[in-house]
Amino acid sequence: MRTEDMFHELLGLGRDWEVYECSFDKTSGVISLRIRELPGLWEHIRCPRCGQKATCYDHTQELTWRHLNVFEYRCQISCRLPRGKCSHDSCNHVFRVSAPWEGLSIHFTREFEAFALLLMREMPVKKAAEILGEQDTRLWRILHTHVNASRDQEDYSDVKAIGVDEMNIRKGHSYISVFADLYEKRVLYATEGKDARTWNRFSKDLLEHKGNQAAITLVSMDMSPAYQCGARTHCQQAQIVFDKFHVIKQVNEALDKVRRTEMRSWKGGYETLKKSRWIWLKNPENLTLKEQIQIGKLQENKLNTANAKQKKLFLQDIYTQTTEERARKKFRLWCRWVRFVNGRMKSTILNPMQKVAQMIENHLEGILAYWRSGTTNAFMEAINSVFSAIKRRARGFRSISYLINVLYFHFGKLHIPAFPSLFHSN
Ligand SMILES: [Zn+2]
Repeated sequence: MRTEDMFHELLGLGRDWEVYECSFDKTSGVISLRIRELPGLWEHIRCPRCGQKATCYDHTQELTWRHLNVFEYRCQISCRLPRGKCSHDSCNHVFRVSAPWEGLSIHFTREFEAFALLLMREMPVKKAAEILGEQDTRLWRILHTHVNASRDQEDYSDVKAIGVDEMNIRKGHSYISVFADLYEKRVLYATEGKDARTWNRFSKDLLEHKGNQAAITLVSMDMSPAYQCGARTHCQQAQIVFDKFHVIKQVNEALDKVRRTEMRSWKGGYETLKKSRWIWLKNPENLTLKEQIQIGKLQENKLNTANAKQKKLFLQDIYTQTTEERARKKFRLWCRWVRFVNGRMKSTILNPMQKVAQMIENHLEGILAYWRSGTTNAFMEAINSVFSAIKRRARGFRSISYLINVLYFHFGKLHIPAFPSLFHSN
């Protein structure tokens, strides 16, 4: 078998194209394959405008695509792609014929792109670029092009339950809002900011993907007024659920405020409480023996932090209630308890806890909807917890759109080519 024929078979070029030359340059270590079309191609090429048959008009200048390595050597395909001319008299449209090996980016074949995407799923882009011997900017371009192309095809008409959450991008105050389908567990949309306008953009994107706001029956989110306003404006039919995750987050933040105030308020408090932040936030069953002893000692001081911690644990325990009615009673009791204890204090140190009680009372129906909705924001939580890893992967990302596309890439359940992507079908 001739080398040309062997590559023809390996590339699965069929009867439309042929490899007419292959060469290996020892100095650069590059294998070059030159390809041209065969007359059979014109039998099924149709004008993209009117669908009539076309004939060969001329050829482009030679274009080159990087393909998968052959052994450890770089391999590239070159071709002067034919341009067709429509045979219909009133059309005469001239168009470029696309080749089966072409990827979405101009420099790479489909197979190479699929392999690069596979690597980028498993490791940071920079690392994938090192392995492939490519500039990382070119790999980023592959990722962007594929994410954008697949998102264009996505269909959101089945979306019924959404979760929305803010995520911190950089230290400081830069945020994105992430909207996800809670049933399908995929990220639908992400955008800069965390104000009510993020909802306008989400709605627009939903419509562009055949989604329907009126079909959304459930929105799970935190208690930020901006999101509440957005959800009420755009998803009027939906039950708003304030997820357990957000309630617990609020009480944890309150607990930490109490600790920090207490740290400054009495002599020796600083040393005692300075390094104990994580111990207070942990649930008792997760404490190590050493931490248990440490917390036991801290509690001997009759700390307000210990008082707040006890309240946090009771609040968390409400989530083990099996019915909404029981939970309602417990939440009310909890709020009364917090107010009662706070009322008897001479200082304002437990005020953050009272604020949580106020917040619960103001949002009780949404908080209780958690028991009715049968769904949780666990998926949002999962994204949130791997988000820092994602940020590391996109290290050196140049803009927020990079980061958002990485989110879509990993959590969008997009139809991105898998490797090997066979263009061997013809
Ligand atoms: Zn035509």
